Amino acid sequence: MKYFSTNNPGITVDTAQAVMTGLPYDGGLYMPVSLPALTLGEIREMSDLSYDQLAALLLYPYFGDIGTVSQMEEICHDIYNFEIPLRMFSDNRGIVELFHGPTLAFKDFGAGFLARLLGLTAAKKQTEITILVATSGDTGGAVANGFYGVNGIRVVILYPDSKVSPFQEQQIAGRGGNIKAVRIKGTFDHCQMLVKKAFNDQSLNRMMEITSANSINIGRWIPQMVYYFYGWLKWMDSGLTDYPVFSVPSGNYGNIAAGMLASAMGLPVKQFVAASNINNTVPEFLRTGIYTPRESVHTVANAMDVGDPSNFVRMTALTKSGIPLNSTVTGFEFSDSEIIEKIVDFHDKEGYIADPHTATGILALEKYGSPGIVMGTAHPYKFTGVMPPKIRDRLTLPVTYRESTSPLSSTAMEPDYSLLKEYLITL
Ligand SMILES: *Cc1c(COP(=O)(O)O)cnc(C)c1O
Repeated sequence: MKYFSTNNPGITVDTAQAVMTGLPYDGGLYMPVSLPALTLGEIREMSDLSYDQLAALLLYPYFGDIGTVSQMEEICHDIYNFEIPLRMFSDNRGIVELFHGPTLAFKDFGAGFLARLLGLTAAKKQTEITILVATSGDTGGAVANGFYGVNGIRVVILYPDSKVSPFQEQQIAGRGGNIKAVRIKGTFDHCQMLVKKAFNDQSLNRMMEITSANSINIGRWIPQMVYYFYGWLKWMDSGLTDYPVFSVPSGNYGNIAAGMLASAMGLPVKQFVAASNINNTVPEFLRTGIYTPRESVHTVANAMDVGDPSNFVRMTALTKSGIPLNSTVTGFEFSDSEIIEKIVDFHDKEGYIADPHTATGILALEKYGSPGIVMGTAHPYKFTGVMPPKIRDRLTLPVTYRESTSPLSSTAMEPDYSLLKEYLITL
């Protein structure tokens, strides 16, 4: 597959380059030049496949120039080894639980695949690749887990000192091996600023292969398309005849854009509903046609606290010309108190505890007023701290979760780029 930049559709790169650089230098985002098209009959025939088989089949056309079919199968078999249930509730509302992976959030789907893809790339090029990421908490864990032990890759994770939860810090700094944790004496914004400086530092980039692992990268973004097919197939298998609406808790809009990619490949989806907290840049755009990026505001659904979502351009790129985005995507935003009330209400009526992000998705599906599937993006246990007391007492860590108990190890650093550069060079 070749990939073009949304800012310069005439310029294309191969898959390895798109994955290694993450972002095109012109500030656009990479998109596949063509989409493998599937007929309804072909999609229906996939209903017997396990998730890892489905993933290998759907992902090979995008990444086949990095790895062979059997390598794709091996990778998918290794990483997608957890259950992905579709739970059904009253009024034909379903939740597809995407949070049974190693860090209990849907980001495991993309982070795990990208890690292995970069591992293949490093082996082919016979180089060592350094992944540099800034995290406010969740991405760090998924990236640390996905890349742990992958040959040819080392990972440097910058996180704000004392501003991540103990659970998150254990996932970031309790790994060791090829995962290096750097505790920045500052905020998440400092971490992000340092990472950006490193990517723009030409002398550093001449000395080492450094790249990012955020949802901008096609190796992390595209694999998220697979679970739309999987959820859709389970929905149709349960005897429902109407195609589903997908309600997607959204922050950087990578997840919902991956759903739109599935739909552009031929998956019949009735409508996408973007579920947002009060960081409502996209729902507002869908209503008014005006896109106003702003500073993000902290909410109880903090993984969606994004005021200028990076994947928004992918949503517009996937919209057929002449068709307005808001005819396929509807957006709704909800306040913290609405989200918390919904957690309690859904627990009382359906006996199910949703995390704040998934609860936002439930609210949006209800407001849209149709049967459909909510993307369950995180396990509620991860958000114990913001849950109302009566719910909090009922939360337990899933039995399948393998908690790391290794001692924490991280390097403390002032938010000063020369210190980070020195650290990277002598790593
Ligand atoms: C990252 C995240 C989201 C938002 O996903 P995007 O792809 O950034 O829109 C939603 N819920 C949870 C739990 C997340 O971790």
